Amino acid sequence: MTFNDDAKYSGKGVRKSGRRTGLAVGGGGLGLVAIVLLSQLLGVDLTGLVGGGTAGTSQSEDTALTNCDTGADANVDVECRVGFTRDSLEDYWSEQAPAMGIAYVSPTINLFAGSVDTGCGGATSAVGPFYCPADQQIYLDTAFYDELRTQFGATAGPLSQLYVVGHEWGHHIQNLAGTFATADTSQTGPASDAVRLEVQADCFAGAWLGAAAQTTDASGTPLLDPITDAQVADALNAASAIGDDRIQEKTQGQVNPETWTHGSGEMRQKWFQTGYSNGAEACDTFALADTEL
Ligand SMILES: [Zn+2]
Repeated sequence: MTFNDDAKYSGKGVRKSGRRTGLAVGGGGLGLVAIVLLSQLLGVDLTGLVGGGTAGTSQSEDTALTNCDTGADANVDVECRVGFTRDSLEDYWSEQAPAMGIAYVSPTINLFAGSVDTGCGGATSAVGPFYCPADQQIYLDTAFYDELRTQFGATAGPLSQLYVVGHEWGHHIQNLAGTFATADTSQTGPASDAVRLEVQADCFAGAWLGAAAQTTDASGTPLLDPITDAQVADALNAASAIGDDRIQEKTQGQVNPETWTHGSGEMRQKWFQTGYSNGAEACDTFALADTEL
């Protein structure tokens, strides 16, 4: 399995969104605009955006993860796996980001089911996992892991689940680094800044996974078992399955590179592999000429 059975969960950094107690009214319009922009920037899946009632008036209480103690739990429980994924990412980036000159702040992972209010507006699971810069939270409905398999045709094993979280965490690093502020996301296409942001997040995910076997819990116990070649192939398979070309083939029956916002499956695999083999310093996708991406 993926996680070391003996590792201990920190109990930090993951919250479960509470259920709404009242139906929210209004506010959906602005939320919709925000989430369209957001998903163009950050999302995995651009289709199926949020519709109606969201922002403001609902009441809910967030809770921490329960039934999550050891890596053995993470190997059988999908939410606990997110908790351990968080601990490993935190251990890696709390050292790596400062080494790259980035003042590090931890993000929060927000597990939700169905729909959620965020600092970037309301969202439903249909947008896929995403990062909201305004509240520095990664939003994830673990049902997406099933969609990876059923809708995107990926093998979707445990390491591809880790890759998805690692990609969104990569957007958080970009936020801290100021990359969002300098990128021109008004353009689409294979060499656009939008695509450069996305493949850089893939590269950051790969960089973490390349070092993840060295990450530890608070007492120094390794969080993960050594990653196997088959698991890396699994993550690469997921990266390819959510490439713009593969999604366009599926949803439109043709490939339209000028409208790409995330990069082709091949590009996403390449940048994941670059990070995995060479580390986060090798992820400067903005330094390359158009043809080098
Ligand atoms: Zn992304």
